[in-house]
Amino acid sequence: MKTSSSRVAGLGTTIFAEMSALALRTGAINLGQGFPDTDGPISIIDAAADAMRQGHNQYAPGIGIPVLRQAIAAHQSRWYGLQVDPDTEVAVTTGATEAIAAALLGLVDPGDEVIVLEPYYDSYVACIQLAGGVRRPVTLRAPDFRLPVDELRAAVTPRTTAILLNSPHNPTGMVLNTPELAAIATLAIEHDLTVISDEVYEHLVFDGLVHTPISTLPGMAERTLTISSSGKTFSLTGWKIGWATGPAELVRAMMTAKQFMTYTSGAPFQPAIAHALGLGSDYFSGLNRSLTDQRNVLCAGLSDIGFDVFVPEGTYFVTTDIRPLGFDDGMEFCQLLPERAGVVAIPHEVFYDPSRASGQATNPGKTLVRWAFCKRQEVLLEALDRLKVFAHRSQR
Ligand code: PMP
Ligand code: GLN
Repeated sequence: MKTSSSRVAGLGTTIFAEMSALALRTGAINLGQGFPDTDGPISIIDAAADAMRQGHNQYAPGIGIPVLRQAIAAHQSRWYGLQVDPDTEVAVTTGATEAIAAALLGLVDPGDEVIVLEPYYDSYVACIQLAGGVRRPVTLRAPDFRLPVDELRAAVTPRTTAILLNSPHNPTGMVLNTPELAAIATLAIEHDLTVISDEVYEHLVFDGLVHTPISTLPGMAERTLTISSSGKTFSLTGWKIGWATGPAELVRAMMTAKQFMTYTSGAPFQPAIAHALGLGSDYFSGLNRSLTDQRNVLCAGLSDIGFDVFVPEGTYFVTTDIRPLGFDDGMEFCQLLPERAGVVAIPHEVFYDPSRASGQATNPGKTLVRWAFCKRQEVLLEALDRLKVFAHRSQR
């Protein structure tokens, strides 16, 4: 009996599920999987509850209800001055995860090469594999994880069809700057590439930096499918309402795949997210302020304990090097941490290509560990206390 296809071979279980299960089993504080421990505004939750009571409980249209598509188009215009047609250039998906999967299935043929920034969010390479494509990682390196433009240029081959971008970048917290975006745009135009841009952390950018969608650069709106989600921006990761915007033909290709995966996404959540997208700027700045504080608390605490801390420009993750504490294997470290310290973190190692060329035999993420700071201050402080005790014990 055949029990699995080559398309899923080697994909295993996502590290987020593995580490959250470990957190549950050990009762450890979960700074692993990225989800906030405080829900988004009650007005959004009330809007969903109202929608359920008012009968929004059957299939929504496949591309999403008009009110939400209009709200997504209005969001792109309000924040970035981008004009998208809500009827043809916007589609609602079951989280950004489905938008990524459907985009890759809808745009990549077997053998096509897709460039990804490494370390990468794990679903990217899984979905490239499901589509039969070939991943071409370009590595962002500590301490600042800037884009190595020459390496990006060298990664393009005649088989390259797409660049899959992520900024603000999970797991490093890097935010692509103007010269980097310009270099990517030049390359994409020169080689006629499609850009898939995952911008789920678009509102989580700190220290006065700004997020610039690559589709705002000259010549890029016509070749970029931009993906985002309500999960991060409204602290409602369980609702799984995401979306994609871009040229009608790219949205259509993605929708063609999406319609046979989920067909449609969470009907009563859609009017609620339409309401959320229209919240005043005080909501967005308030979220940003509290995450900045949480980032500062966790970064300062980890640094005091002795980790080498790479302060993130965006997202709700911070990356550290564990070597100053006497460890040199992030995976081992994260596996022993829940039992020994009562804290869960994510090893970077799993976000890098395991089949590295022999010249690069060492995984650049081997000693790096990611921590989520989208947790209440008292939770972060308790985790830091536990880590302090652990670090003290392991150094004796
Ligand atoms: N992209 C990135 C970079 C992420 O970190 C995540 C995690 N939430 C997603 C996509 C998936 O988003 P969603 O929960 O909306 O599917
Ligand atoms: N995006 C979140 C993270 O990076 C979690 C996503 C997931 O569990 N798949 O932690």
